[in-house]
Amino acid sequence: MSGEWGLYVHIPFCQARCTYCDFNTVTGMGEDMHERYVKALIQELAEERLPDGSLASIYFGGGTPSLVDADLLGAVIDQVRLKTALAPRTEITVETNPGTVTAEKLSRWAQAGVNRLSIGAQALQNHHLSALNRIHDAGAIQDTVSLARNHGFSNISLDAIYGIPGQTLTEWQATVTGLLALSPDHLSLYALMVEEGTPLQKSLERGEQRLPLGDLVADMADWAEKALTDQGLMPYEISNYARPGFASRHNQLYWKLLPYLALGAGAHAYHPGRRWWNVRGVRRYMEMVEHGQDPVDGEEILTAAEEMREYLWLGLRQWVGVSVPAFSERFGCHPKEAFGPVWLSLGNMGLVAWHDSRIILTERGRDMANVVARALVDAPLALSVSP
Ligand code: SF4
Repeated sequence: MSGEWGLYVHIPFCQARCTYCDFNTVTGMGEDMHERYVKALIQELAEERLPDGSLASIYFGGGTPSLVDADLLGAVIDQVRLKTALAPRTEITVETNPGTVTAEKLSRWAQAGVNRLSIGAQALQNHHLSALNRIHDAGAIQDTVSLARNHGFSNISLDAIYGIPGQTLTEWQATVTGLLALSPDHLSLYALMVEEGTPLQKSLERGEQRLPLGDLVADMADWAEKALTDQGLMPYEISNYARPGFASRHNQLYWKLLPYLALGAGAHAYHPGRRWWNVRGVRRYMEMVEHGQDPVDGEEILTAAEEMREYLWLGLRQWVGVSVPAFSERFGCHPKEAFGPVWLSLGNMGLVAWHDSRIILTERGRDMANVVARALVDAPLALSVSP
């Protein structure tokens, strides 16, 4: 995928706030604000210098992009077309929440070129959906998938969460089985993360609910991996499964550390050697763009060593791991030359293995991916490279 880049478009609006969410989102803003915000996105894009290479993916994330008028998302895609050619293979994804998707929106997204839907299902038990403050019930998930199929969407991803307070293994199995019955092309299964300051974290702190034990959460992950693999949805990243040919092109850009632009409030962009991000406040973002100001709020200049570390720990999340020749071509050295001692200790702990010309995580390494990432981030550089 070298020579490719991606575009992330942040749509921060949500109908209600889920208890576990710490994303940059706002509730209660009406259609007038949606329109004003999208105008700012288009203006920001008009002034951006695009990376070299071909655009592999446009990803509307949020927030709830399916909440806004479909023509507004179409207008952003039109502006992209004014700046660069879209290949037939360009993946254009809209994140959707069941309950916000209509037949009319699906038709207009398809006309605009959207060819992939990522649907936030999360669970198939209404008591869990309601405890998480999701805006939909289980029936709406099934309705959304069949409506999307009827409108010709042939690339549908579903998200689900395990490790929810009070969730049993049987309930998780019912969620996975029920989602598989919808024949998704891609599934993302996430262990629930408790983020500081969220209603979930405060409720857990007050002792109102309890998380499932770690062993049970591990059993949930193991059971799901087998169930999905048996159905031909193969793992290609720690949390992601796909039918052959349906791996998310957008996510692969991130894991391969390829460039991506990002539009909107709080959105983060990356180009080799530099990461930067916009102001988080939605109103502040709109005002800055409307006044002709650059909405960038900060940047991080990455040294060669930092990029190497990031390339390795992101790449290792993928089932295929990191290609040693690709690493050497990009950074001009072998991973063992750059970080010799860390490979020895990760190998001794049984977390990574070397196969032919690839470095991969072992099963234990996948379970302890955070430990591997930490070790790589902290690894001293054994080689003299230009910063
Ligand atoms: S719908 Fe998604 S972005 Fe919005 S509050 Fe819920 S988890 Fe967060």
